[in-house]
Amino acid sequence: LALVLVTFGWHYYNLKRYNTKLLELSVTDKLTGLFNRQKTDEKLMEEKNRLQRYPDYHCSVLLIDVDFFKTVNDTYGHQMGDTVLKGLADLFKTHSRQTDVIGRWGGEEFMVILPHMTLDRALVVAENLRRCVEDFYAETDISVTISVGVGEMERTLSVHENIARIDSALYQAKALGRNRISIAQG
Ligand code: GH3
Ligand code: MG
Ligand code: MG
Repeated sequence: LALVLVTFGWHYYNLKRYNTKLLELSVTDKLTGLFNRQKTDEKLMEEKNRLQRYPDYHCSVLLIDVDFFKTVNDTYGHQMGDTVLKGLADLFKTHSRQTDVIGRWGGEEFMVILPHMTLDRALVVAENLRRCVEDFYAETDISVTISVGVGEMERTLSVHENIARIDSALYQAKALGRNRISIAQG
């Protein structure tokens, strides 16, 4: 009987571990180890619900796009492009709080969700990340910079409308010359 129990216990333990691993894989972007798009969308919805429920709650969002990333691929190869994306993800992780949500939004686009954060503080975070990237890659042969759209989530708008505002800000940062942050208008 003891043997049966031990064997059963062992299988149960493995099954649990396997399930945990599967759950982790389903929310993770394979290349960067960040949250994937689907999980990031879920997190945005959670924040939207919090805004709806608590009148004093604030949440800000950064939308980050790598500048001229196609040139990185074209010059150094796709593999190096992947290495840069992984490197950026690590930089973002190192320079954010445990409670911040960092996701891979698309190919070379990232999103940082900043719970409990007003616009003025989010601007500081965004500028800090922008400078970290600039400084880090200044030490390497390869030049990499980011443009960032920054906005506070407005409780009267849908998630989609909020992201559209922040995406416009990102577009503006690009138009103004890249390697800069731009604020989403209300
Ligand atoms: P901009 O400053 O306007 O953002 O210029 P850009 O070159 O970054 O923009 P564009 O959208 O033209 O190019 C994005 C490139 O990112 C094209 C695509 O091949 C590359 N890319 C997307 N996902 C990956 C990936 O996972 N790995 C690599 N190596 N490249 C990727
Ligand atoms: Mg892009
Ligand atoms: Mg780009």
